[in-house]
Amino acid sequence: MANQTALENIRIVLVNTTHPGNIGAAARAMKNMGLKKLYLVKPKIWPAEEAVWRSGHALDVLDNAVVTETLDEALEDVGFVIGTSARERAIPWPLLNPRETSVKVIEEAAHHDVAIVFGREDRGLTNEELQKCHLHLNIPTSDEYSSLNLAQAVQVVAYECRMTAVGDGLPSMKENTGDRREWDVKAANSAGMEHFYTHLEQVLIDIEFLDPKLPKQTMTRLRRLFNRQRLDEMELAMLRGILRNVDRLSKK
Ligand code: SAH
Repeated sequence: MANQTALENIRIVLVNTTHPGNIGAAARAMKNMGLKKLYLVKPKIWPAEEAVWRSGHALDVLDNAVVTETLDEALEDVGFVIGTSARERAIPWPLLNPRETSVKVIEEAAHHDVAIVFGREDRGLTNEELQKCHLHLNIPTSDEYSSLNLAQAVQVVAYECRMTAVGDGLPSMKENTGDRREWDVKAANSAGMEHFYTHLEQVLIDIEFLDPKLPKQTMTRLRRLFNRQRLDEMELAMLRGILRNVDRLSKK
C-alpha cells in the first residue's frame, strides 16, 4: 500500500507557466502517481482548453488547482519547500537528485504540506524564488542538454516520490528519516520564515550591520543558513523575540 497521505500532502507549484498544455500534462503526471494538490502561480493563460486536452483523466486535479498571484501565497502554510532547477546557481544550496529528495519529501509530508516548485519554461525559477527553498532538486541529465520539458520534470519527481512512498522500509528510507519524526515542536512554516527574514533584514539595517545600498549576499547567505537548520515554531518565536529586543535597545 502506498503511503497515500504523504503523497497527498505534496504540493506541486508551477510558477508563471507559459504553455497551458504543460499544466494539463503536469496534472496527469501527478494523478498517475497519486498526487493531488496543484498550485499555479500567475499562469500566463488560465483557464485553458489545451490544459484540459493534455490532462487525460486528471481533470479533477485541474479543477481543484489553486491559482495564486505570488509564490509566497502558494507556500503560505507549507512546512518544507523544494526548488527545482536545471542548472547550478551562483550561490550553492543543498542540492539533491529526485531519488534522494523523495526520501526527505515523504518523511516531511507525514507532518505537513511539502511544496515542490517548478519554474518557467524559458528561464526556470529566479534566484529570489530559489532562496525561499530548503533544498534544491536537480534531475541529472546529459551535459549536452540539461533542461527537461516542465511536465516531464514533474513526472520524474512525482514518480520518485511514489516509489519512496510505496517502498515503505526501503533501506534509504530507514537511514534517512531525519529527525522530524520524534520532534516535539511543529516545523516553522514558510510564511513564518518569510516574516522572520523581513524582520531580520530590517534589524540588521537598523543596527548598521547591513547597508541597504550595498546588501551584497548577506540575506541570501542568512537564508541559506537558517533554511539548512529547519527551525521549529518555538525556535522561530525565540529568534523573533531576540530581534524585538535588539530593535528596542538599539532605539533607546
Ligand atoms: N532554462 C531554464 C529551464 C527551465 S525548464 C533553467 O535554466 O532553469 C522548466 C522547469 O522544468 C524548470 O524551472 C524546472 O522546474 C524543471 N526542470 C527542467 N529540467 C530540470 C532538471 N534537469 N532538473 C530539475 N528541474 C528541471
